[in-house]
Amino acid sequence: MWIGIDDTDSRDGGCTTYVANILIQQLIDQNIDVIGYPRLVRLNPNIPWKTRGNGAISFQIGKGIGTKITIGETNHRPLCGYTSAARDSFTDEEIRNVQHLLETIIEDQARMTDENTNPGFVMLSHQPSLTVYEHAVHEIMTVTDCTTVIDKGKGIYKGYKNGRGLIGATASIAWVANHDKTYELITYRQKAAWGTPRSIDEQSVQEMDAAFPLTFDNYDYENNHNRIMPNSPCPILYGIRGDSVTELQQTYQWVRSEPVSSWLLFETNQGTDDHLQRKPIKDIHPWQSVIVDGVISHNPDTIKGGHVVFRLQDTTGEIDCIAYEPTKQFRTRIRLLKKGDHVIVYGGVRKHPLTVNLEKIKITHLVSIDEKIENPVCPHCGKHMKSRGKNQGFKCIVCGTKSTTPVIQRKTREINMGWHEVPVCARRHLSKPLKRMKMKGDKQSSSDVKNRERSPNNTRSCS
Ligand SMILES: [Zn+2]
Repeated sequence: MWIGIDDTDSRDGGCTTYVANILIQQLIDQNIDVIGYPRLVRLNPNIPWKTRGNGAISFQIGKGIGTKITIGETNHRPLCGYTSAARDSFTDEEIRNVQHLLETIIEDQARMTDENTNPGFVMLSHQPSLTVYEHAVHEIMTVTDCTTVIDKGKGIYKGYKNGRGLIGATASIAWVANHDKTYELITYRQKAAWGTPRSIDEQSVQEMDAAFPLTFDNYDYENNHNRIMPNSPCPILYGIRGDSVTELQQTYQWVRSEPVSSWLLFETNQGTDDHLQRKPIKDIHPWQSVIVDGVISHNPDTIKGGHVVFRLQDTTGEIDCIAYEPTKQFRTRIRLLKKGDHVIVYGGVRKHPLTVNLEKIKITHLVSIDEKIENPVCPHCGKHMKSRGKNQGFKCIVCGTKSTTPVIQRKTREINMGWHEVPVCARRHLSKPLKRMKMKGDKQSSSDVKNRERSPNNTRSCS
């Protein structure tokens, strides 16, 4: 059986992954097994009414068979899952018990008083079609779209308040990591520390970042920003993202911090570019995320607030592309682009005005730019000619010889072809970092051997 939960958090606290953490511990205590890793699924990042990161949780439960895996730890006790499930074998009474547990925990944990918090949970015996997930990560889905899907699958659901959480809950269950996935190890604070400033040693985060090459977005060295630490008052201490389960299960022992009360390892669609769709400009609609291939038709301008905008053209139309102020150093590179450059832009679409909010860019051709360095020299007198006025050419004041062409020189372009991305501090959850694009085909952890020496017998495991 699949369980999906969404939208229990608010801007001032709470966290849907923490609800999953409590729920999983209680299910395991009741001898119900978790199959595979719990999943943290990010959905359309451009939806205006999202709570925070627009991430929903789902996981499969059942009677576990096959290999045991370590999915987390609570008070130094491992939380075990299984790689596969025996045939779905829940009785009606067991289903009612799980439903009751879900209601109790969500009603206890969710920030119901926040008007933007609209929790929902879904129980389904089978995953809905992958198109449900694709719709929710690319476009805008309605609560009715979801209840139709759940009813068709004879599922159970409960939506609180406007029920918007049902969308993420259903879409999260529908996610299948067909072409790409990553993992995130999330650690939680002791209850007494909630709401107080987090204590994490930044130096140790940098050491961890260097020691585990298959992790990503840990630390922003350009802006001195510790990216693993959230800045909301939620129960999360930090989250580490990566491609290797083996690496992630060791990382938290490298981070020096206040005590960790528990951790959970999630399978996710973070860092996969799953939100993006390749589109001609005429087909771009608000709130999508797009990949557009075009030519710059208007040089970049810096506008009020320090944002940088250029205009992009393809055979179907034109659209403004913008690097916002929080993208920091990325804007410096965008300013170096020129009319005529060929680029492929990646980003989310804003409605008013219709613009592409840049996440990364690939430069495929840089135009040659000639600049005038001085007036022409008279071939008879050897002296510089004088300008006759704007677009009027040049004339030698001694012999009267005329010329239209000044001495020009090809300018060196100060930006390189290829990829440019926003710094780690401005990275969106779903954006695939260039680090991951480069390491494709290199999924083996080179640091496993080294790290085993560093932490002897320290990793508690279920197998
Ligand atoms: Zn002359």
